Amino acid sequence: MRATHELTLPVPTPGTNVAFDVDRVRKDFPLLRQQVHGKPLVYLDNAATSQKPQVVIDTLTRYYAEENSNVHRGVHFLSERATEAHEAARANVRRFLNAADTREVIFVRGATEGINLVAQSYGRTHIKPGDEIIISWMEHHSNIVPWQMLCEDKGAVLRVIPINDDGEVLLDEYERLLTPRTKFVALVHVSNALGTINPVKQMIEMAHRQRVPVLLDGAQAVAHLPVDVQELDCDFYVFSGHKVLGPTGIGILYGKADFLERMPPYQGGGDMILSVTFEKTRYNTLPYKFEAGTPHIAGVVGLGAAIDYLQGIGLDRIAAYEQGLLAYGTDVLSAIPGLRLIGTARGKAGVLSFVLEGIHAHDIGTVLDQQGVAIRAGHHCAMPVMQRFGVPATARASLAFYNTRGELDALGRAIRKAIELFS
Ligand SMILES: *Cc1c(COP(=O)(O)O)cnc(C)c1O
Repeated sequence: MRATHELTLPVPTPGTNVAFDVDRVRKDFPLLRQQVHGKPLVYLDNAATSQKPQVVIDTLTRYYAEENSNVHRGVHFLSERATEAHEAARANVRRFLNAADTREVIFVRGATEGINLVAQSYGRTHIKPGDEIIISWMEHHSNIVPWQMLCEDKGAVLRVIPINDDGEVLLDEYERLLTPRTKFVALVHVSNALGTINPVKQMIEMAHRQRVPVLLDGAQAVAHLPVDVQELDCDFYVFSGHKVLGPTGIGILYGKADFLERMPPYQGGGDMILSVTFEKTRYNTLPYKFEAGTPHIAGVVGLGAAIDYLQGIGLDRIAAYEQGLLAYGTDVLSAIPGLRLIGTARGKAGVLSFVLEGIHAHDIGTVLDQQGVAIRAGHHCAMPVMQRFGVPATARASLAFYNTRGELDALGRAIRKAIELFS
């Protein structure tokens, strides 16, 4: 008989947000002060990208005004200063994820590049014809397509964990998919389309029992809950700077040193070498082996400032506040006739995906925009999960800790207006 797996979800307790002063926090985000179409901006598209606090903007300006220089090369004052700032940010990210060593923190362009790096470098060396790679039904295209490309290349097979009508992975089905043919598991930590917080610790344990390594796509997790890669025991973890208050074009690949050491470089070029002759190139040590070319230095430094800012508030307080907001927003939306929430998992982060009877998601988005309310309408780079729920698209409001209950009331009013207009 097959084992039945109890769900043990890392659900933060809904917070009464004691000592969390959202009005004060909002003052740190200059963009939030603007009006759109003559209405105060209500920014609820945080799953697409987060806004930036003044300290991140100032850090970028100061970097270019006072420290700009190339890293790891010059012996002059500025180059040393830029190198120091760059490596201090790496140390910051290490602490943020509680990685064991800064050598395990690789700077990449974003979650997408991190996943492609692992698929190409680890995948190409370790995956053979007939091997199987497991993902879930709720993955972002970034955590589907790189594995499909690898499977196509190698004659390997992609297996998909089904989900239930609430948007929760079926752990028994996952257990069934884990076989001696399984060679890799890649899972989203928090779904951008549904908000589901996956029971990743348990899912990693299950894979590790079969000696299968696991990559987590943390793009929607790190800004919303505390993440400890050692506690999770994941083998790889990726996220993007722009979704955690940082700049675009910078992101993180965390990998256990054991794995990274045994992986070939992803790209060749400057900085990733120790010595080059036309006969033979010796590769640099970790983490530089995976960082070919001049890095996005300003992005790295800006990401470091974003992480400092987040940690100054505290991810546990952020998670508790956002759980309160999510519960409030769920009530606001549930009270609207004809509205169906897509994604009702027991463990959820701040994503409210919904459809309205007879109104296309894009039309909802357009009417809401006229009210100053910014949401996303579409398939959210997760077309398979849309197909699973039988909808072409959803409207999605996604929360951050600088959002307020008043803004969720404004969202509710704007949706009712859309219903009026289209009925
Ligand atoms: C945004 C997102 C990605 C891709 O991030 P990029 O910044 O575009 O590289 C991957 N997975 C999830 C769950 C996301 O939300």
